[in-house]
Amino acid sequence: MPQKADDRRSFLHIRALMATTSEGLIAVGPDGDVRVFNETAEELLGVPRSRVHGKLYTSLKQPKVEAAVERLLRPKARKEPIAVRLTLGDRVIAATVAPYDCSGRRAAVVTLRDDTALEAYRKRAEAILASTGDGLIVFDPEEAITYINPAATMLAGLKPSKLLGKRTPLWEMLSMMPEDSFSPAIDGSQVREVRIEEPEHRIMDVRTDPVLDDKGGYLGYVATLHDVTAEREVGQMKNEFVSTVSHELRTPLTSIKGYIDLILDGEAGEINEIQREFLSIVKQNSDRLVELINDMLDISRIESGRIHLKIQPLDMCDLIAGAVDTFQAVSDQSGHKLLPKAPHDLPKAAGDRDRVGQVLMNFISNAIKYSPEGGSVTVKAKQEGDMVVVAITDQGIGIAKEDQAKLFTKFYRVDSSLTREIGGTGLGLSICKSIIELLGGKVGVKSSAGKGSTFWFSLPVASKDLVRTPDVEGPAAAGGTVLVVDRDPEIANLVETYLVKQGYDVVKAHNATEALEKAIEVRPRVITLDVMLDDGDGFDLLQKLKDTPETSEIPVLVLSIVCDEGRSCRLGAADYLEKPIDKARLTTIIDDLVGSVASPVVLVVDDDRNIVDLLCRNLKAKGYSVAAAYNGAEAMAALRKKHPDLILLDLQMPVMDGYQVIEKVKTDPATKDIPIVVMTAHQIDRSRIDILGLAQQKVDKPFSAEELARRVESLLENMLEES
Ligand code: ADP
Repeated sequence: MPQKADDRRSFLHIRALMATTSEGLIAVGPDGDVRVFNETAEELLGVPRSRVHGKLYTSLKQPKVEAAVERLLRPKARKEPIAVRLTLGDRVIAATVAPYDCSGRRAAVVTLRDDTALEAYRKRAEAILASTGDGLIVFDPEEAITYINPAATMLAGLKPSKLLGKRTPLWEMLSMMPEDSFSPAIDGSQVREVRIEEPEHRIMDVRTDPVLDDKGGYLGYVATLHDVTAEREVGQMKNEFVSTVSHELRTPLTSIKGYIDLILDGEAGEINEIQREFLSIVKQNSDRLVELINDMLDISRIESGRIHLKIQPLDMCDLIAGAVDTFQAVSDQSGHKLLPKAPHDLPKAAGDRDRVGQVLMNFISNAIKYSPEGGSVTVKAKQEGDMVVVAITDQGIGIAKEDQAKLFTKFYRVDSSLTREIGGTGLGLSICKSIIELLGGKVGVKSSAGKGSTFWFSLPVASKDLVRTPDVEGPAAAGGTVLVVDRDPEIANLVETYLVKQGYDVVKAHNATEALEKAIEVRPRVITLDVMLDDGDGFDLLQKLKDTPETSEIPVLVLSIVCDEGRSCRLGAADYLEKPIDKARLTTIIDDLVGSVASPVVLVVDDDRNIVDLLCRNLKAKGYSVAAAYNGAEAMAALRKKHPDLILLDLQMPVMDGYQVIEKVKTDPATKDIPIVVMTAHQIDRSRIDILGLAQQKVDKPFSAEELARRVESLLENMLEES
C-alpha cells in the first residue's frame, strides 16, 4: 500500500478517537497556538472549535488553564503536570496541563475530565463524615493527615489548617507520651483511652483501624475519637455510690456478725440447741451479706483502680494445699473429693497472696457448688512456658458453649433452673478475671454441658529478683495493753471483748484527740485504728503518732471499713485489716505485733522448711518472736523490714547462701552487731572460712531444737549484759 494512503488512514483513526473520547483534549504548540481542540473539549468548555483553533491559547478564556500553559511553555519550566479545577456553571471539570516535546521545543497538552458526578459524591461522603458525632482523622501511609472531620476539630481542639497534609502521628497530635504505645494499626484495630484537658476536660476512646484497598493494600489508617466523658463520670459516680452504700452497710454488719459470734462462743452465757440453730441461720445469712458487700466493694475498687496488690513469689503448692484444707469440711459434707496435684519442681508464681488465694477459693467453691451430684474436684498446677497455670476441674453441671463467653462478665449467671436454685450473684468470676489480669495473667474455661467444667488461670513465673519478705510472728498469748481507737463504741467494745479474751488489757478512745492523749499516757503495745473519726482524719492521727517521739515506735494496726492499704503503709502502719473483723486474724496480727516489740526477734534462715518450722515453734514457746526465711535473699528482705536480735543461719541454701548473708550482715554498720549462729550439716567451705569467723557460734546438725534455743538464750543474755 502506498505510504500516503497509509498516513491518511492513521490520521482518520486518530481523528475518530479524538472525537469519541470522553476526555477533552487541547494541544498547544511551542508558539502558543492551539493545534488540537477536540469535540469533548468543545462540549466541556462550551467554546466552538472555530473560535480557538489556530489561535493563541489565551482565546480559551480559562485563566487557570492559561496560567498553567504559560508556566509550562517557559524555557526551563518544570516538567511535572499541573492540575487545576474549573467550575463552569453546575459543572466541575478537572484539567491537567502536561508538557510535551515538539521537535526539541516545549509544547503543552491539556486534558479535561468531567468531575461533576465525582465531586457530588465526594461532597455527599464528606457531609456524612462531617455529621457523625465521632471525630474522624484520616492518615496516609506516611502518617500525613488527609482529612479531619468537624467533630474531631471540636472534640480534640484540632486546627485542620495547621494539620492537613502534615506528617503528624496520632500519638503526637493527642500529646500522648511514648511513640510505640500507640502505633498505627496496620494489622488490626486498637482502642485506647485518652484524656485531654484542652479545649476542655474530655475522656475519649481513640480507635485506630487500617484503611485497605480492595486487594488488601495499605492506604493508611483512620482514627475514630469517641467521647466517653459522660459515661466515665457516670461510672465513677456509680462506683462511689456502691462504695458509700457498702460502707454504710458494713458498719452495722460488723456489729451484727461480731456479736452473733460472741453469743455462739458462749460469751453471753449458755445457749440451748434451738437458740444455737436459729443463731447459726442468722450467722450464715450475715456471712452471705458480708460476702456480697465485699464483692461489690472489690468491683468498685477494681474499676476505680484503687486495688492495692502486694506482688511476691507464691508457692502455688502451698496455696492450693491451704485452699483445699479450707474446703475440707464443706467437701466432706457434700460428698466431693478434693484432689490437689502439682509437680515438686513447680516454679514460684508472681502474685498477691491474698488475692490469688481469693481466686483459687472462688473457683474451688464454684466447682463444689455447681456439682450437686458430688464427684471429684481436681486442682492442678503446672508450668507452661513462662507462666504457672492452675486448673480446677469438676464433674458438675457444665456450661453450654454460648454461655461460656459471657461467664466472666459482671452479674452474668447461666439461666437455668439449677443455677437459680443454687443461688449466687454472678460477681465472683468477673472479680477473678480482673484480679488475674491485673497480675499479668489470664483466665479461661473449658466445659461441656452436663459433663463438668475446667476453670483455669495463669500467672507469670516469678523472676529471681522477686523476694518474699518474711513477717515477724510473736509468741502466743503475749499480753499487755492495746489502745483501740474507733468512733463507734459498739465496735470498740467488740474488739475489746476479743482482745481481753486473748489476755490483753484494753484502753479505748473514740476520737483523735483522746487517742493521742491516751497513747502518750499509757504507752500501749499496739494501737488499732479506724481511720474514720469524728474529729479528724484517722490518717492525720496516724501521721501524728509516728511523728511523736513517745508513740512513734508503737505499731499501729489500721482496722477499718475504708481500708486504704497503700496510704496506711506509706504513713507507717504496721498492718491493716478490713471490717467486718475476722477474729482469728485480728488476734494473730496483734500477737505478732506485740511480740515483735515485747520479745527478742530471732530470724531463722534455712531452706529446709521442716527445720525452720520446728525451730520457730520452739522459739515461740520460749517467748521469742520469729521470722522465717527460706533462703538468703528472703533473710536480707526480712532484715530490711525489721532489725532482728539474732540470726540462726544455714550455710547451704539456694538463691543466696549463708556465707553471703554473713558477709553482707557483718559489713553493714546497721546490722554488724546482730549475732549470728551458724547451723550446718555439711563440710565447711575452707576457702570461705574467714567469713565464717565473723559469725558468733556454730552448731552442727543434727541438733535438738532445745539445744539451739538454749544457745539463742545465752547469746541474747550476753548481748543484753554487754549493752
Ligand atoms: P455466682 O456463682 O455467684 O453466680 P460466679 O461469677 O462465680 O457467680 O459464676 C457465674 C456463673 O458461672 C454462675 O452463676 C454459673 O452459672 C457459672 N459457673 C461458674 N462456675 C461454674 C462451674 N464450675 N460449673 C458450672 N457453672 C459454673
